[in-house]
Amino acid sequence: MEYDTILKKIIEETKQSKEQIEALILEKQEELSNLVSKEGAAYIVARELGINLFEQKKKDLQIKNIIPGARNITFEARIVSIYPVKKFNNNGRQSKVANIILGDTTGTIRLSLWDEQTNILDGIEKGMPVQVFGAYTKEDHRGLVEVRLSRVGGLKILEHSDIPEIKPDNAIRRKKICDLKESMYTELKAALVQIFDTNNFYAICPKCGKKVNKENNEFVCIEHGKVEPKYSMVFSGVIDDGYGNIRAVFFRDAALNAVGMTIDQALENKDHLFDNILGKEFILTGSARINKMFNRLEFVVNKVEPVDPKQEIKNILNTMEKGD
Ligand SMILES: [Zn+2]
Repeated sequence: MEYDTILKKIIEETKQSKEQIEALILEKQEELSNLVSKEGAAYIVARELGINLFEQKKKDLQIKNIIPGARNITFEARIVSIYPVKKFNNNGRQSKVANIILGDTTGTIRLSLWDEQTNILDGIEKGMPVQVFGAYTKEDHRGLVEVRLSRVGGLKILEHSDIPEIKPDNAIRRKKICDLKESMYTELKAALVQIFDTNNFYAICPKCGKKVNKENNEFVCIEHGKVEPKYSMVFSGVIDDGYGNIRAVFFRDAALNAVGMTIDQALENKDHLFDNILGKEFILTGSARINKMFNRLEFVVNKVEPVDPKQEIKNILNTMEKGD
């Protein structure tokens, strides 16, 4: 650090005049029989005044440490994927929403952009390093963290970042259940070995899809008030991939795709939802998260696909070529 920089920093921190600080530094240099340079003396003075010159940049916020309910957060990430803008009618008003998946080496997270914020999509591309600032978080309906931008928030494209490129096939590389860690977004190939007996349907708002609560025989959405609800499906069970097992939660489309039904078919076959899927193997994409109530790791399934034997053979050959 240059002498002037140190001097400036000391002046800022102590609110004393330049002359006073320079006098202190000179004094220190003399005290040490001029054995130290001006910079060296300035360092010592700063330390004696309790000023930390090496104040680290605020420790970078890693994605795995971003929790729901945070306010005014800033973090760096790379854009892993960009989803197209969805338009919908919000109480007679045209609204827009778009999702971006951001990632760093510790995990991935969803940023949702609303209305004018969706213009951000025009200037960004997959793979770009970005800084998200002025953001806050909430828990989405899957129990995962959703990042939103406040009125003063935004996305800044960075010229450089230490975060390595996160290729989608890297981010979603298949893992073994025994290697799952919190916030890991990944793919598993696992069989459903147990299904818990719980209520499998819940009412959602037809406008925004959020869960609605029944109050005095009416369904009420926090944002849209009284609504005629639609229904969505959820189930949880245990999946096993031969290396380990874990509780898994299937929400909405993931639940319906797993049982191979539409929501209407599922509502009609309430008692036979799982007749054909116990023991069946699936390719499951989703996130590992800590269930706070039970303090254990769970897998929240985002996408359910059938096991494609041809693709599996390709994967094995690819792995052998790469030698890992
Ligand atoms: Zn709603």
